[in-house]
Amino acid sequence: MRKISADYIFPVSSPPIKNGIVIMEDDGKIIDVINPTSNLQPPTSEFFEGIIVPGFVNTHCHLELSYLKDKMPKGKGLDEFVTEVENIRRKFSEEEILNALVKAEDEMIKNGIVAVGDISNSDFSFHQKAKGKLKYHTFIEVLGFHPDRAEKAFQTGKQLQSKVQHPTSIVPHSPYAASEKLLQLINDEAGNSNGILSFHNQESEEENLLFQNKSGKILKRFEKWGIDASFFQPAKTNSLQFILPKLNKAKNILLVHNTYTSSEDILWLKSNIQHLTSNIYFCLCPNANLYIENRLPDIEMFINEGMKITIGTDSLASNDSLSVLDELKTIAKYFPKIPFETLITWATKNGAEFLGFEKELGTIEIDKKPGLNLITGIDWEKMKLSEKVEVKKLV
Ligand SMILES: [Zn+2]
Repeated sequence: MRKISADYIFPVSSPPIKNGIVIMEDDGKIIDVINPTSNLQPPTSEFFEGIIVPGFVNTHCHLELSYLKDKMPKGKGLDEFVTEVENIRRKFSEEEILNALVKAEDEMIKNGIVAVGDISNSDFSFHQKAKGKLKYHTFIEVLGFHPDRAEKAFQTGKQLQSKVQHPTSIVPHSPYAASEKLLQLINDEAGNSNGILSFHNQESEEENLLFQNKSGKILKRFEKWGIDASFFQPAKTNSLQFILPKLNKAKNILLVHNTYTSSEDILWLKSNIQHLTSNIYFCLCPNANLYIENRLPDIEMFINEGMKITIGTDSLASNDSLSVLDELKTIAKYFPKIPFETLITWATKNGAEFLGFEKELGTIEIDKKPGLNLITGIDWEKMKLSEKVEVKKLV
């Protein structure tokens, strides 16, 4: 049994506790959370200076792309980024790819991450994920802009899925990389399995241009790749309004990036929410957004509209680290008004809830096994995250 205390405990499910004490089994299962003012204080064996929060949940990563660390140009925009990924990915051996992802997983563990929503286009990461060092939900991503590819793309996804033991779902890469036919296959599968879905949403302006009036760089890229786009009829709305109703059988849906999501999109979402039976979550990957597009989503708008937010690191192809805390620091830097407690909720409880891991993770509560992180170096007066703030995995 361990008794762990700190200046503050942030259970996230309830208000912060000054000098709170967490009592847990040796395997990390919580037996009690004690507020010393309301209970007789048991002797504490371990006291830490700082704030204890639950283990972090990284809702968007591509472990299999870890070998692309420091290889991709910064700030050139998504179109050039994707083209460059396609050019460079063939130049690496399987051994290099596997070594890089093992290292990347270790980095996540060290940075206090306990669960990951991880995208897979291949089986490269499956062996490592099966070791169970972190809790995973693997999103098997399928690509098929042309409707003729739908069946084949979906079957490829099914084949990959059969190789994984932990929770998985088959998901579209993005609104522009899935035909209506493919979306229908994905939606039916989600409906049959109470599934949770995730896709890259409005990561560039080009995505909205394609759906509004069939223009922009995505179409040019498809032409270059020899993909026939003649069948494509623009929805004349933003991509979000096109895709969400087509995935209405999913239990939870994660929209990743949202760099070009407008208040109009959110108003549409709110007015249609009774028809959209899925729970919608918005995943912020600020460091990847700055890396690729040098722009951030309108985060305050999502808060003001009451949207549920989670945190993702994206891959090392578009980030210098796999650290949820580093993402929070970036948000705190550009949006200093967002309270620390709100940021921590996004990084823990919301992510666990989206991934369906809330019975075990996301909050410091009796019978859960959330992992504990110690946050140090915080500015106590302002309760703000600065560059000096660090995370240490305690449990
Ligand atoms: Zn991504």
